[in-house]
Amino acid sequence: MIQFTRPGFLVSGLIKIQEALAAGRLSGDGPFCRTTEKLLETELGTRRALLTTSCTHALEMSALLLDIAPGDEVIVPAFTFVSTVNAFVLRGARPVFADVRPDTLNLDEERLPQLVTPRTKAIVPVHYAGVGCEMDAITAIAKGCGAAVIEDNAHGLYGTYRGKMLGTIGALATQSFHDTKNFTCGEGGALLVNDPHFVERAEIIREKGTNRSRFFRGQVDKYTWVDVGSSYVLSDILAALLLSQLEARHEIQQRRARIWNRYATELADWAASLGVRLPTVPAHCEQTFHMFYLLIPGARRSAFIDHLKARDVQSVFHYQPLHLSPMGIAHGGTAGSCPVTERVADELVRLPLYNELTEHDQGVVIDAVRSFR
Ligand SMILES: *Cc1c(COP(=O)(O)O)cnc(C)c1O
Repeated sequence: MIQFTRPGFLVSGLIKIQEALAAGRLSGDGPFCRTTEKLLETELGTRRALLTTSCTHALEMSALLLDIAPGDEVIVPAFTFVSTVNAFVLRGARPVFADVRPDTLNLDEERLPQLVTPRTKAIVPVHYAGVGCEMDAITAIAKGCGAAVIEDNAHGLYGTYRGKMLGTIGALATQSFHDTKNFTCGEGGALLVNDPHFVERAEIIREKGTNRSRFFRGQVDKYTWVDVGSSYVLSDILAALLLSQLEARHEIQQRRARIWNRYATELADWAASLGVRLPTVPAHCEQTFHMFYLLIPGARRSAFIDHLKARDVQSVFHYQPLHLSPMGIAHGGTAGSCPVTERVADELVRLPLYNELTEHDQGVVIDAVRSFR
């Protein structure tokens, strides 16, 4: 069976883990954490990158930083992973579900103005598949209503929008290093703090509400409890593993680009003949080759998945529309309110795409896809 995904692995990861173990500093915020954070800060140009235990936790930190409270509204795409919205619901916010664009499947900026109210506290665009959302329009709308923009950039590390790195446009942004993502340490994430005004408090929230980071820098002579917070620091062993992958980012992204481009080229005629849609990447966006998906019309998706399975190829779909989930309905979601999300959730299939997918195995996938009529 050709698997749909496999976590990336490099021998350099083993070496770095060994180094971390030998250094005897396994908890969070150790030397590997700092090196990895510096690498992200330099390459992205963000004010502060803080490694976290997951993207979910980085989103939770964002909600704490914005003082999200009951009565606040947070606009999220209906087509995303649950953490994008859960982090804010945890603080008592009301989620407001926005539909996505039919081309990129990103939050539809044209639908935003009608969803904004005086209670809108944040807008959370997700750069789906690592293709940038229309950030100029989203930023302007957020400015107009005084809401913060938090980019859920779980798919988009090293992608760009009009020349700007994804994850550096909103006040805050979140990354995921879960083992399904381009770069991984198993479970992990990062909070990118672009607005300098949040830096100090972000460090405090990540360190259980203490000023421990300032203590380590010698800025205070003892550390103490100063704010709310939780335990969001990533172990140095995992930071070491993550560093090995980020250091190999060019090679990893080149491999993924080669795989992605081959799918796009070799499936184009087949897709056109069946009315299947392939991903759209606008010219002003550099994507991250995080996923290759197909939109299969006419209620034929499960037949397609079965067809691939019979040829030993695993394919998967996602996301169930959030506004129609039990929690979404409890928060006022109604059928028909996000028609594009509702349609693509029934049509989307993801093909195998991972760093170590071989040319041979990709050929098997392509043959299996093209024999579906
Ligand atoms: C993977 C993912 C997350 C959650 O990442 P974790 O690191 O597993 O918490 C959040 N949002 C999106 C869009 C994701 O794809």
